[in-house]
Amino acid sequence: MEEAMNENMNEKFEKLQPYLDRSVALGCALTLFNWDGETLAPRGAFEKTSKLIGALSAEYYRAVINDEVRSLLGELSAPKEQEKLTALQRAIVKKLLRQYEELEKIPPEEYQAYQELLSLSGQIWAEAKENNDFAAFAPTLKKIVSWQKRFAEYTKKPGMSLYDVMLDQHEEGILTAQLDEFFGKLRSAVVPLLKKVTAQNSRIDKSYNNRSYPVEKQREFCRFLAEYIGFDFERGIVAESAHPFTTNLHNADVRITNHFYENNLESAIFSVIHEGGHALYEFGVDDELTLTPVGGGTSMGVHESQSRFYENVLGRSEAFWKPLFAKLKETWPDQLADIELSDFILGINKAEPGPIRTEADELTYPLHIMIRYEIEKQLISGEIEVDDLPEIWNEKYREYLGITPENDKEGVLQDVHWSTGSFGYFPSYAIGNAVAAQIYAFMHREIPVAECLEKSDLAPIREYLRKHIHRHGSTKNMNELLTEMTGEQLNADYYIDYLTQKYTGLYLSRQ
Ligand code: ZN
Repeated sequence: MEEAMNENMNEKFEKLQPYLDRSVALGCALTLFNWDGETLAPRGAFEKTSKLIGALSAEYYRAVINDEVRSLLGELSAPKEQEKLTALQRAIVKKLLRQYEELEKIPPEEYQAYQELLSLSGQIWAEAKENNDFAAFAPTLKKIVSWQKRFAEYTKKPGMSLYDVMLDQHEEGILTAQLDEFFGKLRSAVVPLLKKVTAQNSRIDKSYNNRSYPVEKQREFCRFLAEYIGFDFERGIVAESAHPFTTNLHNADVRITNHFYENNLESAIFSVIHEGGHALYEFGVDDELTLTPVGGGTSMGVHESQSRFYENVLGRSEAFWKPLFAKLKETWPDQLADIELSDFILGINKAEPGPIRTEADELTYPLHIMIRYEIEKQLISGEIEVDDLPEIWNEKYREYLGITPENDKEGVLQDVHWSTGSFGYFPSYAIGNAVAAQIYAFMHREIPVAECLEKSDLAPIREYLRKHIHRHGSTKNMNELLTEMTGEQLNADYYIDYLTQKYTGLYLSRQ
């Protein structure tokens, strides 16, 4: 907090500091427990450890939600006090106030009852999915939806729908009106493009992807890739878990995981590039910001923009693989003997409608998100009921992707999000893709991106992202970052242009 030391120390802000330190420390402890649970903790630990986590969570809650913090935030947000604060202090006050206003409207006993429900719902969902039994999950989902609506009602501002409240929690200011327009545009561009592209699919044979790729070699290659894109092994580690994810304590401790399948070459490669993109964001946060409440990535949408920028925009491009393809073939000479760079590029960009979101390619991906967005909107407004979900899910998959999921396990039960109460979260994935494309359009004007990739020099790209996005942590929201960078707010046109150019180039101009 050097900036604060240089100016007149603000007495009131100083009183807030111990609460900030405490909440950041407790937050880090919870992050570590979560990391441990996903990676190394023994299976039998869950029940006892969850009690510790419960106690720490309650402490975390009390560190921020208490009368002293409330009155300090009240004073610090007055215009006269605001003038005396540094930009960083103002950002911290703003963020805490937002959190505070959301949390304090919810009666503690209701919050606790909901948390207890959530601590069970994950298991209920997982079993229902395993047994392909939606009816076993429906009663729990009904309760979650009703709590979610109740909480949204508490914090709703005039003119907002209940679903708007949920969307706003994930991406500040991106509500139903903006998303309806965003998805509407996207749909009218992607659906016809996908039709043209899939008509060409028969000439793409990517069976090479499912040959046998011993896991030890995959580990080595993925470690090399992480380093290649700039992952700093002095400040980060790569571990393994069932589903790859990224977490961090601060900008000098960033952790990603990967998962290896012997009969799938692409999976771990693109996971490490994706999680690596998330990690570079956290590595890039300014020292002054890390270990403060605004020391992490600003939102899920912006975070996904970084991971998807690396995974898709860079990682699935020909320029990226030109200098790497020889090494890939050296690593697996037999498996890839008959594969040329051009086959590989078509293979990693094959677009094909399928039932599973997490396995979807770049072109069909936004359609999976649109389906979830429309269903959530109708569910929260009461237009449809939980019991209607399997049927509506399948109808929408027929309409948007031309396929019918074989069962609910492959359909409405596939995603974990609803069992954790994360309504309004899905659109962040599509927003992330769109932000990545918008950034790319502007990065191009300053940096010869393809040339850098072909020279294996990713530093200028990394620096550009650090300067415009990473270093700011969450002192600015998505539209503020985009406006400073590109002169406008989120605009779906860049994403549509990107997809159209990319797939036309790959599929339709090379017939
Ligand atoms: Zn991600």
